[in-house]
Amino acid sequence: MNFGREEVFQPGEKFHGYIVERLLGNGGLGAVYLVRHELLDTLFALKVLFPSVASENDAYVKRFLREAKIATRIRHPNLVAVHDCGFDGPRGLYYLVMDYVKGGDLRQAIAFAGHFSPDRAVEVILQVASALEAAQKYHVVHRDIKPENIMIQPDGLVKLVDLGIAKSDDIKDSLNTTTESVFGTPSYVAPEQALDAAGVDTRADIYSLGVVLFEMIAGKPPFDGPNAPQIIAQTLSEDPFPDIRDFNPDVPPMLAVLIRRMCVKERERRIPDPETLLGEFAKLGYRLSRPESAEVHYAPAADAAPTVLSVKKMLDNLPEKANDTLSFQTDDEEVKAFIAGLKRKRARKRLAIAIASSALAALAILFLVWLFV
Ligand code: ADP
Ligand code: MG
Repeated sequence: MNFGREEVFQPGEKFHGYIVERLLGNGGLGAVYLVRHELLDTLFALKVLFPSVASENDAYVKRFLREAKIATRIRHPNLVAVHDCGFDGPRGLYYLVMDYVKGGDLRQAIAFAGHFSPDRAVEVILQVASALEAAQKYHVVHRDIKPENIMIQPDGLVKLVDLGIAKSDDIKDSLNTTTESVFGTPSYVAPEQALDAAGVDTRADIYSLGVVLFEMIAGKPPFDGPNAPQIIAQTLSEDPFPDIRDFNPDVPPMLAVLIRRMCVKERERRIPDPETLLGEFAKLGYRLSRPESAEVHYAPAADAAPTVLSVKKMLDNLPEKANDTLSFQTDDEEVKAFIAGLKRKRARKRLAIAIASSALAALAILFLVWLFV
């Protein structure tokens, strides 16, 4: 089904506590907007499903909700974090809120750079493999690994996005996966996924990732027939898989072999999972490293209970009056002692101010007496 692009928002529009800044990307079924949370003053990315798509077929709505469910359950530095999801009745609009990834996607980067050096390409691939390792732990297959769904921040941190056609063994819904049209994208789809998208496992993602690595180095994907059926025909039958060294002789021979092992047509002979893949890269001297910005993490709700540090910070930021009348429901002896100490300090300060102001008043009276007597 082909849907036209729809202008869902205009810049400056308000939507559920967010202000729309601009369009970030457009897909066939929806769009992604840069938005600013009105109260938090923080940027997020808001993904919406076009209302015409939602009303056309309930399966698209189910898929959108499934994307949101899967994405909120996995937290990983190389996977974009999804925070919220909802439905706007009057507009007929399903939406989800995720972290905004600064930078651009790998499609834009390839278009800009032409191709990458093998080392730089592997750096990106290792981070995606790490995200896939986390996904596999939660029995999730992405099924749409391609440059458009790999974002790169300016500092080099890679974020995998778009679990739009992901499959999860843990989240069962009423989608009939055998008839579900989740084909993937011809140039990147594994042979078995082209034949049966429902039966795939993490090995289909390994194949697609091999194609992306090939394209990053060669500047073009291994199979690039003039149309989708021809690309699929090449994917299913063209053997051997093209040699990356024909495109770039500087690629170390063992790396060329590894790319081929990621893209073996029979999945039984392919690199079996992301963990093994990371191990194989490590044997060639390529090790995962992430920029510092990857260290951002989310405090679990349990950590939010007041601690001496947070109480101190809170009191420091309160006006003095409120500060003195504050009483805490706390059993924490350290917190109680801190508050008692603070109150004593405040009482001493008040006494000093009282003495100083009485002394000033007395001086003023003495001065007046001296003037008029
Ligand atoms: P679709 O399912 O329509 O392909 P995606 O989730 O892949 O939707 O998003 C479409 C495009 O929007 C991406 O290719 C990317 O350029 C941009 N995009 C998606 N998510 C984000 C994000 N969190 N931050 C910034 N840009 C994003
Ligand atoms: Mg996408």
